Amino acid sequence: MEVMDKSILVEKLLSDPRIDNRIKLENYLAVGLGLRPCSQATIPFDLVDAQRFGSEIDRRIYPRIVSLEKIVETREKMKVIEAIKREMSKAFREIVEASREYSALIEWAEALRLGRTIYQVRPTVQEIFLFKEKSIEKKLKELLKDREKIRAATLRGMPQVEDKARFVYPEEFNRGWLRRMGEILSYPSCCVERYAEERERGISVEERAASQIREKAGSDLNVLAYFVAYFFPCSPNCKEAISRGESIYNELSKLDPSIGETYKRIAKENSERVRHQPEILREYKQKAIEDRRKYG
Ligand SMILES: [Zn+2]
Repeated sequence: MEVMDKSILVEKLLSDPRIDNRIKLENYLAVGLGLRPCSQATIPFDLVDAQRFGSEIDRRIYPRIVSLEKIVETREKMKVIEAIKREMSKAFREIVEASREYSALIEWAEALRLGRTIYQVRPTVQEIFLFKEKSIEKKLKELLKDREKIRAATLRGMPQVEDKARFVYPEEFNRGWLRRMGEILSYPSCCVERYAEERERGISVEERAASQIREKAGSDLNVLAYFVAYFFPCSPNCKEAISRGESIYNELSKLDPSIGETYKRIAKENSERVRHQPEILREYKQKAIEDRRKYG
């Protein structure tokens, strides 16, 4: 960001209602100010009013998925699956990509001169990575390519896996891949190592991280350890994680003390999310079951 127009741009960004405050600070400003090399947003989940996008897509697609289960003949089934995938991509384009909330993400990447890589994970899920350096873009492309390789190898190699997560997100169980991804997202290596080891050993990272927070008396908790959402520090006391949070807090406070305070509130929300993550996951599974009942 140029110094001259920086404060005007920041002010405009912060008053844009189309983007969530958390995404503005963690993804756009933190990368724009060089406080982390890269950020990742998952679309539609990280959009303002994500729920609305999710349910609009569901409403269009779900009846077709349910009807699919009544088809027995394999070849017919494959054909319908392909048609559903195309319909999902179309729904994503028409509902999500055409929205003002989505356009805002692209406009602001351009306004702040951030590079972006957009990756379609599934027909209705997309990841948007932001960065400043060409070297990061290169590393990111390799990471995404390797993730595809890991996923393809898993599909070939273990058709009967018990643990569903291990099958859907096999890269989460690949220590080398997690290390490289953690590095560009600026996760401390101690936290990445603990995360990777627990995943490998089948220990729930979410349960561990939630109980670490619960064990601490509320006032003792330094929320800056939860310096970006969906990051799990190795411990709430992790010096590396706290120092990353502090440096973002300090730099944002230099722009304007109120931005620093907004960031601290967001970090608190991140810590609350980690505290409740096991329940959030359980609710998510419950909702999937209810949806099946509702539409089926
Ligand atoms: Zn750590």
